[in-house]
Amino acid sequence: MDKKTIVFATGNANKVREVREIMQGTGYEFVSLKDIGLVLDVEETGQTYLENARIKARAVAENLPEEYAGYLVMSDDSGFEVDYLDRQPGIYSSRFMGEDTPYSIKNQAIIDKLEGVPMEQRSARFCCAVVCVFPDGHEVDTFATYEGAVAYEAKGTNGFGYDPIFWVPQYGMTDGELPPEVKNTIGHRGKALRMMRDILEGRKDGI
Ligand code: IMP
Repeated sequence: MDKKTIVFATGNANKVREVREIMQGTGYEFVSLKDIGLVLDVEETGQTYLENARIKARAVAENLPEEYAGYLVMSDDSGFEVDYLDRQPGIYSSRFMGEDTPYSIKNQAIIDKLEGVPMEQRSARFCCAVVCVFPDGHEVDTFATYEGAVAYEAKGTNGFGYDPIFWVPQYGMTDGELPPEVKNTIGHRGKALRMMRDILEGRKDGI
C-alpha cells in the first residue's frame, strides 16, 4: 500500500485540482474517483457539512476497488452561506436552483435577492468539513470557514461556483478575481485541508 496516496471522494475535477494545489509539497498524492474508476452515486442526506462529508468518505471506503484496499479516503463537503438569506443555500449549495443550472444564473439570483441591501448586511461565508477515513474504520475530521460578503456584481473567472459573487473584504475583490494561491491560503478548503494535513503528519500546531 502506498501510504502517501489518498483517494479523494469526489468526481469534481476543480476540487481535486484545488486539493492538489493546497497539499503540494506535503508528499501526499491525491487520486480522484475517476482516477480509480469508481462510479458511485452517493446521496448527501446529512443535515450538516460534516455528516455529508462522512457519508461520502464512508461510501467510498466501503466500495474501494480491490487494488486500492487499505488506502486512506478523504472527502470534503462545503457550501456557501448568505446571512441575509438565513444562511441559504448552505448544505444545498450545489442543488440550489437545480444541480444543472449554470452558476451565472444562480449567482445572479442571489445578487437579485440582495438588491438594495447595504454591505454591512451582506455577510456570507464558505464552510468546509473534511473527513479522513482510515483502513481500520476510524476517522478524523476538520472544519473551517472563510468569511466575506455577497458582492454587488459577479466578477472574475477564477475558481468555480459562487466565487464570482464572494466579496473578500481584505483584498477588495471577489474570489473569482483573487489569484488561486491566495484563495487557497485564506479559503475554507485550504484551512480545513491544512488542519487535516497537520493531523496526518502528527502535528498539532494547526494551520
Ligand atoms: P460539495 O461538492 O458538496 O462540497 O458542494 C459544495 C458546493 O458549494 C459547490 O458545488 C459550490 O456550489 C459551493 N462551493 C463550495 N466551495 C466553493 C468554492 O470554493 N467556491 C465556490 N463555490 C463553492
